[in-house]
Amino acid sequence: MRRAVFPGSFDPITLGHVDIVTRALPLFDEIIIAIGVNANKSYMWPLDERIEKIEAAFRGNTKVTVASYEGLTANFCKEQQAQFILRGLRNTTDFNYEQTIAQANEKVNGVDSIFLICSPEFSHISSSIVRDIARNGGDFASLIP
Ligand code: ADP
Repeated sequence: MRRAVFPGSFDPITLGHVDIVTRALPLFDEIIIAIGVNANKSYMWPLDERIEKIEAAFRGNTKVTVASYEGLTANFCKEQQAQFILRGLRNTTDFNYEQTIAQANEKVNGVDSIFLICSPEFSHISSSIVRDIARNGGDFASLIP
C-alpha cells in the first residue's frame, strides 16, 4: 500500500492544492490530506470549515481522505503508515524552504518527500493571496474549488 500525506494549513484549500493532489493520485494508493494544527498560529477559517472544504473538493474520490494532526509531520506519517510526504512547488522560494525539511525528514525519520511542480496556470495561487482578498472583501471564487 503506497500511502502519502499531503500536509499543509489549507487556509483555505485552493485550486493549486487540488491540482497537486489530482496529479499525484496515479502515484499512490491513498493520499491523506492532513491539516497541521499549530496552537501558536491563527487561522482565517476554523479547522472544521477547512476540513469540510477539502472533503467537498474530493467527494466521491475513495483514494483521498482528510485528517488533522498536531506535532511533527513525520510522526503523523508514521502513525498513518505513510511512506511519503507530498508537496507542491511553485518557485525557487518554495524549493529553498522545502529542501532542508525534506532532507531532515528523510535522514531522521526515513520519510521521503515527493514534489510535483505546479501547473503554470496555478503558480500565482496561494492560500495567503486568497486570505488577503477575503480580508479586503474581494472575490476569490476563481482561486478555490
Ligand atoms: P503550508 O502552510 O505548509 O505552506 P499550504 O496549505 O500553504 O501549507 O500548502 C500546502 C502545500 O501545497 C505546500 O507544498 C505548498 O507548496 C503547496 N501549494 C500551495 N499552493 C500551491 C499552488 N498554487 N500550486 C502548487 N502547490 C501549491
